[in-house]
Amino acid sequence: MKYFILFGPPGAGKGTHAGALAQKYNLKHLSTGELLRAEIAAGTPLGIQARDLIAAGNLVPDEVVEGMIEKAFDSCTGIDGFLLDGFPRTLPQAEALDRITAARGETVTGVISIMIPDEEVFNRIAHRAEIEGRADDASKTTIAHRIETYHAQTEPLIEYYRKTGKYHEVAGFPGSIEEVRERVLELVENI
Ligand code: AMP
Repeated sequence: MKYFILFGPPGAGKGTHAGALAQKYNLKHLSTGELLRAEIAAGTPLGIQARDLIAAGNLVPDEVVEGMIEKAFDSCTGIDGFLLDGFPRTLPQAEALDRITAARGETVTGVISIMIPDEEVFNRIAHRAEIEGRADDASKTTIAHRIETYHAQTEPLIEYYRKTGKYHEVAGFPGSIEEVRERVLELVENI
């Protein structure tokens, strides 16, 4: 099984490019953000716990997303691997992913990082807010907080994966969606 990680700041285009990758390589696209939004929409206890944290631009506890990922790994069949989008987002989550894959006799295949500058994060999320209406896209303060959280808690993962030789980066800006998609597909072809 392949275990690809789509990495990058909020608004980098992880969700946008996940579909083409998942289809080409027969991967199950797992977005922890989408899974959490589904829990919120269904009004589950987990969703109720996560709702205010997400709306404020904070991360939900590591154990919550780790549990969701493990459950998804166990319940998917007929695929050649997983495309993780928005997970891991902290060092403890990356370590948990190493343990979870090791327990299955597997390992992370590669990290595909899509990089865009902070100013571009604001532009993209402001645009997405008009289309998707996500609570955590609604205010500038929340977006700024998510960018800060990314730099403080998620960015250290670059070094973590660089050390293992699994870190690969493409520019998510400048370029059209099609151009970035080509970069991403070409990168994965060579992993
Ligand atoms: P996303 O759709 O990936 O932008 O995620 C939306 C929100 O869900 C994030 O801002 C976090 O509040 C929460 N979330 C998603 N994935 C994780 C994760 N791996 N760890 C903690 N919180 C997460």
